[in-house]
Amino acid sequence: MADTAQATGAYTASADFIAKAHIDAAGYERMYAASVADPDAFWREEGQRIDWIKDYATVKNSTFEYGKVSIKWFEDGTLNVSANCIDRHMATRANQTAIIWEPDDPKVPALHISYAQLLEQTCRMANVLKAHGVQKGDRVVLYLPMIPEAAYAMLACARIGAIHSVVFGGFSPDALANRINDSEAKVVITADFAPRGGKKTALKSNTDQALLHCKDSVKCLVVKHTGDQTHWTEGRDFDVKAEMAAAKPYCAYTEVGAEDPLFILYTSGSTGKPKGVVHTSGGYLVYASMTHKYTFDYHDGDVFWCTADVGWVTGHSYIVYGPLANGATTIMFEGVPTYPDAGRFWEVCAKHKVTQFYTAPTAIRSLMGMGTEWVEKHDLSSLRLLGTVGEPINPEAWNWYNVNVGKGRCPIVDTFWQTETGGHLITPLPGAIPQKPGSATKPFFGIKPVVLDPANAALQTAVEADGVLCITDSWPGMMRTLWGDHARFEEAYFSQYRGYYFTGDGCRRDGDGYYWITGRVDDVINVSGHRMGTAEVESALVAHAQVAEAAVVGYPHDIKGQGIYAYVTLMRGVEPTEALRKELEAWVRTEIGPIAKPDLIQWAPGLPKTRSGKIMRRILRKIAENDFGALGDTSTLADPSVVDDLIANRMNKA
Ligand code: ATP
Ligand code: MG
Repeated sequence: MADTAQATGAYTASADFIAKAHIDAAGYERMYAASVADPDAFWREEGQRIDWIKDYATVKNSTFEYGKVSIKWFEDGTLNVSANCIDRHMATRANQTAIIWEPDDPKVPALHISYAQLLEQTCRMANVLKAHGVQKGDRVVLYLPMIPEAAYAMLACARIGAIHSVVFGGFSPDALANRINDSEAKVVITADFAPRGGKKTALKSNTDQALLHCKDSVKCLVVKHTGDQTHWTEGRDFDVKAEMAAAKPYCAYTEVGAEDPLFILYTSGSTGKPKGVVHTSGGYLVYASMTHKYTFDYHDGDVFWCTADVGWVTGHSYIVYGPLANGATTIMFEGVPTYPDAGRFWEVCAKHKVTQFYTAPTAIRSLMGMGTEWVEKHDLSSLRLLGTVGEPINPEAWNWYNVNVGKGRCPIVDTFWQTETGGHLITPLPGAIPQKPGSATKPFFGIKPVVLDPANAALQTAVEADGVLCITDSWPGMMRTLWGDHARFEEAYFSQYRGYYFTGDGCRRDGDGYYWITGRVDDVINVSGHRMGTAEVESALVAHAQVAEAAVVGYPHDIKGQGIYAYVTLMRGVEPTEALRKELEAWVRTEIGPIAKPDLIQWAPGLPKTRSGKIMRRILRKIAENDFGALGDTSTLADPSVVDDLIANRMNKA
């Protein structure tokens, strides 16, 4: 295998960064080799980074064999996740800030919540839940803004062994009702309103609508956050803050088994009906805390900011569980990157002296379009490391992030992972693995990726390879099942490539052994026999100075088999003209090759995205195929109206 320290064309962290990093290049090689050579021994030791009530004797017990898939870690150990995230830090960190809450409105003061306060609020919330009859194993749906109560509620569920399912506050009443019903939740915790970007979403009113489609017994606990008037159903609705204030300030934690579920989280639905991914307690926490520490090179005293919403797995693992298990200071941000102006991210970084900043490529691209003056206004000297997650980052955006935000001195960790994986799967470790823009680089400890030929499932043994990304063996943080549907779990992830976990993503491995995610396998197009990831064509389009965003899909083409259909959003103020269309065609031709030249380019004022900012390509595919009668589940779209415009102006009208 190539020496990671000398990967070709790579960016290496500064000598200063490397000197202070938890893990250097040699350390990575040694630990990685140990983790795959003897997983039992490796994880037996790593499992000790959290506190167990009863220590485990068994470490790993899993099989990926189709029909018998079963995944267990530390199965005879017992613990409590909330005790690990709070109580165990009390002796040394009671007065340290656990959570910095930054409100939507910058004029409202931020809150600094210490570990002692976090303990008290979590206990009060836990006592409220208990008073409403919530017991170990019961499900609680959280439909909340990004407010401290969201963290209290997650940790309170964990404290009493209840299973939370967080539903993003931007979702519709329908989506909420589906999740309450699918998980058979006893209680939903919501708020009156969710302020975001200066606007207010009526969460309580959405919940009222959702509950019309749920069992009458579901109780609704309401956080009066903005204090605005809402409809109130006596006997069903309860004022959480008032009840917390009246509740006892301490609640003993419940001992749970390592394999007892911690949460259910529905995937974002970019490829179909959302799946209720189940994560359990012990393995998940070990993995979340370990990846948080090493991927972000977290040290005591750092201020860690992950901009995700807690409605996504990223918020679970890297706002709440990973950081708090490590006794970190973590930021919870209620707002959006562009409110009150496009400098908000950087203003918050400067204000709280953020050391690690973790966001999504889509956010970077949108801020990129607004110019660098917004970044330059703020002092970003506290930043040591940057991260991205959610989709491949195109090199153009990587460079912008590196130069303008990181000032060329912050390593960028491009973390590839999924709701299903609980934590990072493939990511640079910042002091150890040189980065290449657009590559998630190398596997995390214990992860054994393989590249298979999608045509015949053959294992690609050469270092340089192209195909679909699968994982050979389980790791502690991976999901255990889909809620109530183990058959769908096996079907979705273990049936197509027998003996492997199938990520659903395509990838390329380069001569240095680096992994490049090329997008969903569904998004690979076959043009005249050439397989091509849509991400590659998109990346080329976005590299053009006048293009803000691009989404590429295949459509049936008489001659080529599949043609390339590109939806292009231009930079603000750029006129869509025939000349520009020709220019973009020529541009892709020179950037990638004649084979990649788009057959059709549609100007798209907006793209259909999930609330986590992922482009819903299955919808774009339908429109490109001129078959938009049945678009499938669109309940997780951020702005359904963009779809109508795209349909009206489609380029492939029969
Ligand atoms: P669904 O499974 O319902 O379609 P989803 O896959 O969009 O939803 P997530 O679990 O949030 O929901 O996203 C995981 C996917 O995001 C990965 O499978 C991959 O396609 C993409 N992804 C995440 N991080 C990266 C990254 N760093 N580089 C490339 N792709 C990434
Ligand atoms: Mg997925």
